[in-house]
Amino acid sequence: MIGSTAEAAGKTIEVAMAMSVPGTYTYGVPEVLASAVAAGMRVLVSFGRRRATGYVLGPASPPEGKEIKPILDVMDDAPLFPASMIPLFRWAADYYKHPLGAVIQTALPGGLTVAESSTWRITDAGRDCLTEGGLAADEARVLGLLSRKPLRVLSIPAIPGAVLATLQRRGYILRTRTLRAGGTKALQERWVRLPSMAPVDGSLSPKKQALLDAVAAAGELPVRALAAQTPNARPHLRALERSGHLETFARRLYRDPFGEAILPDTAPVLTADQDAVVSTVCAALGKGFRTFLLKGVTGSGKTEVYLRVASQAMASGQSVVVLVPEIALITQTERRFRARFGEHVAVLHSGLSAGERFDQWTRILRREVRIAIGVRSAVFAPFSDLGVIIVDEEHDASYKQEGGLHYSARDLAVVRAQQSGAVALLGSATPSLQSYYNVRSGKYTELVLPERMEARSLPEVRTVDLRQCRDLRGPGRFVSAELNRAIAATLDRGEQALLFLNRRGYANFPVCAACGEALRCRHCNISLTLHQAENAYRCHYCGFSLPASAACSACGSKQIKRLGMGTEKVEAAIRALFPAARVARMDRDTTRRRGDILRLLKGLREKTTDILIGTQMVTQGHDFPGITLVGVICADLSLSFPDFRSGERTFQLLSQVAGRAGRGDRPGQVILQTYNPGHFSIRAACAQDFNAFYEPEIGFRKALGYPPVTRMIQLRLSGRHERFTREQAEALGTQCRALQAADPGWVQALQLLGPIEAPLARIAGHYRWQILVKSLQAAALHRFVDRLLAVYPHGFARNRVKLVIDVDPLYLM
Ligand code: ADP
Ligand code: ZN
Ligand code: ZN
Repeated sequence: MIGSTAEAAGKTIEVAMAMSVPGTYTYGVPEVLASAVAAGMRVLVSFGRRRATGYVLGPASPPEGKEIKPILDVMDDAPLFPASMIPLFRWAADYYKHPLGAVIQTALPGGLTVAESSTWRITDAGRDCLTEGGLAADEARVLGLLSRKPLRVLSIPAIPGAVLATLQRRGYILRTRTLRAGGTKALQERWVRLPSMAPVDGSLSPKKQALLDAVAAAGELPVRALAAQTPNARPHLRALERSGHLETFARRLYRDPFGEAILPDTAPVLTADQDAVVSTVCAALGKGFRTFLLKGVTGSGKTEVYLRVASQAMASGQSVVVLVPEIALITQTERRFRARFGEHVAVLHSGLSAGERFDQWTRILRREVRIAIGVRSAVFAPFSDLGVIIVDEEHDASYKQEGGLHYSARDLAVVRAQQSGAVALLGSATPSLQSYYNVRSGKYTELVLPERMEARSLPEVRTVDLRQCRDLRGPGRFVSAELNRAIAATLDRGEQALLFLNRRGYANFPVCAACGEALRCRHCNISLTLHQAENAYRCHYCGFSLPASAACSACGSKQIKRLGMGTEKVEAAIRALFPAARVARMDRDTTRRRGDILRLLKGLREKTTDILIGTQMVTQGHDFPGITLVGVICADLSLSFPDFRSGERTFQLLSQVAGRAGRGDRPGQVILQTYNPGHFSIRAACAQDFNAFYEPEIGFRKALGYPPVTRMIQLRLSGRHERFTREQAEALGTQCRALQAADPGWVQALQLLGPIEAPLARIAGHYRWQILVKSLQAAALHRFVDRLLAVYPHGFARNRVKLVIDVDPLYLM
């Protein structure tokens, strides 16, 4: 019956299911629901034999000759995302070969599932009506059920949504959402301002008049500030509020991770360089799509540029998205946006509880804020009037999501800007090769901030050739005489040192002294790492562990040499060399609990730590004003990875570490130990010279046909069964070649590599194979993979071998 109503009304909609099924579906809308449904809302539909949730994309033309099922219910009162974002979702689904509904699920805040526990309850009017009678059978049944207890939306048995909608419209039932409260309570502060209609009254005491004048002058003022200026102000303020001369209101108080309030700041006068950059970007606002790449060393004033551009966009009524890399604590960038824009900022990051994240999302949707700042998923912040999207530290690997929808938030940011006719502003001290290549090819506009603020000089970087230490024994092997002297001098001056080694644990290459076999993980093709604090060997890929007393699995010998080094070994050496120094270590092992990072950073700030030893973690977003010496224990670790981006990663990492020195008012010094002092990545990082890195690197990428010169899609297969996985990979390889051979255009445009075993051939018990498809032409590459997936949709899941498609892969391991 309802089906025929839908057809009569003629309204059909396109729905993306909230699950991993390809394509979209067409449903009919019953008359009673017609006014309640809009793009961006969720609907309940019957899908196969189940009931399931889908997202409404908009009207659809009904397919001919096919029966259209009606939707059962509309689950939201307001859209969860603006319709203007649907093209972005479609683009991501198409480009990243991911089901559209699953893309939307990735974009929406996790808190929504919390909101989903919405319930129907009966109203008093409903109860009256139930006793009075005169209802249709379905209606009476629903009211009867609800009169006993409220019911979850999904647990109401097989009742057409139309019935619920009718009852709701008549006020007999009510839907309520139970949101779990957020984990942290917002801190509030009392503020005062003048009311719009003040009483005309000349008889105020001088003290009250003075308070009123102070408020009038400031516009809005915290009560705390007034109380600090004027003794005994609070009772007067209360009296003034009662008489209607003042009104008070609550304002949320933001705190930094150290627990200190983030107080409003005032914008400084821009330097000439900043001014030029800000003018260029602001001139482009509102004039269509444009991408800028802002290059400037740490401390050159990039964040201030972001703030000004954001402020300008807001002033002309546009919204702003700011993406920051994923790190353990909030970044300086987030803190500074808060200080400048306070209430106008919504924050979307993983540190929030589901409920908080949902709240932030809702504030954006309701246009209560104009700025959203967050990690990669914030690229989906539901603004409909985007003016600028800023990507801070655009080279950062955390913008790439591995798992689920394999997307690059930086790339999506540019696409979103393009679709919205907005400006994309990417910034970094060490831009990705990809982005700089886009500058060179004219797609992006380069902007430069050439100097550090306040004429603070860049740290002086010296390299030490570790090959000269090779024959030494003990800590001298990896703490050279030069680094040793520099640490001693730093300690003598009462200053702090940072020692960097991008590997945790004690020894990462334990080898049997008797037979020479390495100790390997039982589930991975990986050496175990000895962790002294845990007294165990650990696999860094799957977590497998053995006691430190374990014997060689090949010959049973208990004599294991602890070769290779990690931060634990460095810490032990430093403690032995500098027994009086206060040493701390920051890596994943020492920061497992909440608050550990804060404790370590506090130690530095309060000067209870003299030497901090750390991994990559220390390069990320933290400001260490007291550190004047940075020592890189071994600069080469990332250089030896069998991955074409290893040089790029090395350059970025070393430049970022070096940038940690001398951010306070004393000059910094960097000592960089390396076995490859002549390598251009290392030389360029020492000179803090991006172009000295870019030129040879891009030459190498061109010669070998690697991105950014070409585009790549990686097909990754993994399975528990060794032979099945290999066979499946071989079969897929054959399919790829057959498909390619069928089209001369593809023969010419595409390069197929593999199937080959992945460099990490077995991880956590899964055998891994890969096929790489490369092309100079993105369009041909995508058409090929789309075709492959369309032709062989079922060939992949056989024998429990999983296929993952990684478009523009970041790691080829
Ligand atoms: P970056 O983002 O490039 O690391 P920042 O914007 O954080 O650089 O600037 C470095 C320091 O200089 C910060 O402490 C910032 O407050 C300060 N700063 C930035 N611009 C100005 C300016 N125009 N006048 C005074 N101080 C500034
Ligand atoms: Zn052995
Ligand atoms: Zn393992």
